[in-house]
Amino acid sequence: ARGDLKRAELRSGDVPAGMPLCMANLMNKLKDSHHLKHGGRMQLGLFLKSCGLTMEESLSFWRDEFQKGSVASDRFDKQYAYSIRHTYGKEGRRKELSCYGCMKIINTTPGPGEHHGCPYKEFSEPRLKQSLSAIGVPAAEVAPIVSLAKENHYQLACGRTFMATNQTDPSEGAIVVTNPAEYFDRARTLRKE
Ligand code: SF4
Repeated sequence: ARGDLKRAELRSGDVPAGMPLCMANLMNKLKDSHHLKHGGRMQLGLFLKSCGLTMEESLSFWRDEFQKGSVASDRFDKQYAYSIRHTYGKEGRRKELSCYGCMKIINTTPGPGEHHGCPYKEFSEPRLKQSLSAIGVPAAEVAPIVSLAKENHYQLACGRTFMATNQTDPSEGAIVVTNPAEYFDRARTLRKE
């Protein structure tokens, strides 16, 4: 499976290395607050599914995280499990869904208290700088990435982050990221994880 993400890795407390900023941000918010609103659950949930989590693994992942907050297991099963099963095609119209592409993520507008969307578009400059440093972008690369983001070249900014954090060969040219699951898959392949 793509990325072949294991639930054990998600439980370790750390955000798995190589995640694009949009998903690393949601993972951090989820692990801090043990909750995400609907838009964040959809964006991260479909990504995790595309990275190879089975439906049972996804249900356990979300139930465990929400239980650390204020959502008891029976309330989780009543209120949240349906939409997870739905993404796996087990409820409703039975159509399996896959990871949102970057254009869809960029074109959503998160409201107050929501953490989905594309950080290269949504974050303030200081927050973007801090987030890039936190995922290991070298200091010299932060400014050019922030400039691309300010010029609304979000997918190019993300590609440059990919190059800076995965030591790709610069002679291969710029990368335009189009899908977060592909970003992660490629990062994992390069890292041989
Ligand atoms: Fe995520 Fe795509 Fe934005 Fe990168 S460009 S942070 S993969 S939405």
